[in-house]
Amino acid sequence: MLAVTSHGPQDVRVEEVDKPKLQESTDAIVRVTTTALCGTDMHIYHGKIPNVPAGWIVGHEFCGVIEDIGDSITEFEIGDRVVSSMYVACGRCPACVSGDHRRCAKFQMFGMGVAFGNLPGGQAEYVRVPLADMTLRGIPDGLSDESTIFTGDILATAFTALRQSGIVEGDTIAIVGAGPVGQLIAMCAPIFGAGQTYVIDVVPERLEEAARLGAIPINPKEQNPRKLIKDQTAGLMCDAVFEAAGNVPAMETAFSLPRANGSVVLVGMLVDEPFPLSAGDLWLRNTRVIPILGAPFSHRDELLKLIASGRIDATALITDRLPLSAASAAYAAFDRKELQKAVFQVGEAG
Ligand SMILES: [Zn+2]
Ligand SMILES: [Zn+2]
Repeated sequence: MLAVTSHGPQDVRVEEVDKPKLQESTDAIVRVTTTALCGTDMHIYHGKIPNVPAGWIVGHEFCGVIEDIGDSITEFEIGDRVVSSMYVACGRCPACVSGDHRRCAKFQMFGMGVAFGNLPGGQAEYVRVPLADMTLRGIPDGLSDESTIFTGDILATAFTALRQSGIVEGDTIAIVGAGPVGQLIAMCAPIFGAGQTYVIDVVPERLEEAARLGAIPINPKEQNPRKLIKDQTAGLMCDAVFEAAGNVPAMETAFSLPRANGSVVLVGMLVDEPFPLSAGDLWLRNTRVIPILGAPFSHRDELLKLIASGRIDATALITDRLPLSAASAAYAAFDRKELQKAVFQVGEAG
C-alpha cells in the first residue's frame, strides 16, 4: 500500500509499504478515505520529535471505512464509515473514566513515533486502529468525511481549549495565531458565549478569514495588540487568551493581554525553545496558565451533533484537496505557510 513516511528533517516520502494486519482482537483495519495534514506533523518534519525511525508512517487525522475487525469488536461492522481519534485510550481505567484519556496506560498516538506509543499513522491507504470500539466513531449518515474528520483532533482541541478556559457569556477573548486551530477557536467561541473576539496573526489571508468569522483581526506588524485591545475594552483587557501558534513572539503577545485574574490557555506546542515566565507577575496578576491537549473522546459526540445541525462547518478551513502522492510537496508548502489546511483524498468513501 502507499503511505507517507518520514526519513528525517525535511524528508517526507510517499512510498510502498506493507499493509497492516490485525494484531489484537480489539483492533480494526481501516481503509483510509480522507486524511489531513496537521501542524503537529510539522514537528516531525522539523526533526523535533525524538525516536521517529526512518520510514515511519506519519499522520493522525483520518476517516475511512472498516476493512476488517478483530473478534472482540462490538461497535462496528465491516463497511462502516468511521472517523478516528488522534490517539488511542481504553475508556475504562480510572484515568479514562475521569476524562483524562491522555494518562491512560493504553495511550498511543498515531504517527508520532516510538515515544508517543509506537503506533504507525493514518496518512496511508490502510491503518491498524487499536481499541477500535473506543478509538473510532461512526460517521452519521449524510455527513461527509471532510465535515467530521477534525473531530478527532483540531476541532476537539479548539473545543477543549474553550471549555477549559472557563469563559462565561460576554467574555472578551483573544486568539494569538490564526492557523487551523486558532480559526476553529474563533469559529466555536460563540457557542461558549464569547463576546468580543480578537484574532492576532501576521498573515493577511488568515486575518481575513477571522474577520469573516466575526472576530476583530489584528496584525501586530501594523498595530500593537495590547494597546488596541486596551483602548477598545476601556482598559479591561481579555478574560481569556488562547496561544495557538506555539512560538515565542506569540507567547509574549499572549501573556500581555489577560486582565487581572484572567487566563492564558496554551494550545500551541512550544517544544523547541524555552519561554521565561515571571512567577512574580503571574502571582501578582493571578494569571491562570492552562496548558491543554485536545480531548476528542470527551467532545466528539457533542461536536458531531453541532456539525449535523449546521452550527459548525469546519470544511471552510480546507484550502487544498490533494492525492496522497502529493504529500511531499504539501508538507513543504505547509511549512512555507502557502497552504492552510490540506486533506489527502485517498479512496472512495464507502
Ligand atoms: Zn493534528
Ligand atoms: Zn484508559
